[in-house]
Amino acid sequence: MSNRIDEHRISLRDNAVRFARDQLSMDIAASDRAGTFHRDGWQKCAEFGLISMAIPKDRGGAGAPLSDLLTVMEGLGYGCEDLGLLFSLNAHLWTVAMPLAIHGTPEQRLRFLPGLMDGSLIGANGSTEEEAGSDVFSMRTHAVRDGDSYILNGSKTYITNAPIADLCVIYATVDPTLGPLGITAFLVETTNPGIELSSPLEKMGMRTAQMGRITLKDCRVPADAILGREGRGVKVFESAMEHERGCILATTLGAMSRSLEACITHARKRRQFGQPIGKNQAISHRIADMKVNLDAARELVYRVGRLKDAGKDAMMEAACAKLFVSETYTKFSLDALRIYGAQGYLADSPTERELRNSIASVIYSGTSDIQRNIIASELGL
Ligand SMILES: Cc1cc2nc3c(=O)[nH]c(=O)nc-3n(C[C@H](O)[C@H](O)[C@H](O)COP(=O)(O)OP(=O)(O)OC[C@H]3O[C@@H](n4cnc5c(N)ncnc54)[C@H](O)[C@@H]3O)c2cc1C
Repeated sequence: MSNRIDEHRISLRDNAVRFARDQLSMDIAASDRAGTFHRDGWQKCAEFGLISMAIPKDRGGAGAPLSDLLTVMEGLGYGCEDLGLLFSLNAHLWTVAMPLAIHGTPEQRLRFLPGLMDGSLIGANGSTEEEAGSDVFSMRTHAVRDGDSYILNGSKTYITNAPIADLCVIYATVDPTLGPLGITAFLVETTNPGIELSSPLEKMGMRTAQMGRITLKDCRVPADAILGREGRGVKVFESAMEHERGCILATTLGAMSRSLEACITHARKRRQFGQPIGKNQAISHRIADMKVNLDAARELVYRVGRLKDAGKDAMMEAACAKLFVSETYTKFSLDALRIYGAQGYLADSPTERELRNSIASVIYSGTSDIQRNIIASELGL
């Protein structure tokens, strides 16, 4: 049985690597420098089935186990150097498409899910505000009921996909005195009057993913634009975050595997003091530690997949995965750069780009400190 699963996973991963190499290859240095979002790559990933794969069958998706999707994500991260594109797709999947599949009404699902799955619609999740980052439920964006509609006012920032989004999940409070119990999720189309999307914000890494602000000025949406129920936005948010924290870093497992192989090759080839640098334990032990940390990171990600596939809660395990994989990824990327020396420090080198990309991972979907807070609270502290 377990051999069959292994073979199935190997074939899924190999297929994803082949697809990424054939269909998603590009001049990544130039794209990264220019901050180019590859819409054609987005479309190809959607046609490959990436978005629909884990959406349940009764919601129109393929209903594959989450563990299979994680395997595909890992393969894409190995075969595709455009980590920004994969990050954009993950944000879209975990914080818009999946919450809509889980919490949406039949009408909402019918209206938006096909487009979110086939690549024609791009989703963005608007929770963070200038004054509400880690303390996200202190948000000021508010929604006031007016007859059959709500009027939204406020501003969201650092939102992945915002400059190019078609559909946003906007979190707003219907009553600030209620705290988290006032938070409500709304589905807002970007063609709606009163919603403005900024141009992309320049950032250090993940430059091919577009990040921006969303401003809502007297933005009127129908009452049936609520995702879930009024005052139950935290539930939608938490379920989106459980998926996102647990799964968004699966692509980085592939990226780290690719980097590890490159480091081993370099450590064998590069000679100093008359021998390959890999003959020094300072280098070989660093590479051994990279391998161990990558294997441990992989286990934590797939543990989330197994739990969710068994219909279990994985809030703490998702926070453990997010914390360990992001911290591993940043240290791993710095270690790779050390192994390459000055060559790895050059602008546009894969190691330099990977290090810049990796740093974002200790911030998005909740910083490492916030993951520790979640784990501690789940442990009853
Ligand atoms: C690449 C990227 C993509 C993003 N995409 C999105 C998106 O699509 N949608 C969205 O809504 N947001 C998005 N964000 C925003 C992200 O969710 C926030 O940046 C994050 O929640 C942290 O908020 P902050 O940046 O305001 O930091 P702050 O909350 O100001 O934190 C600053 C520092 O204080 C620490 N800190 C704060 N409170 C505590 C505490 N209680 N205990 C211990 N330490 C604490 C933090 O860990 C951090 O080190 C994205 C961010 C990045 C970098």
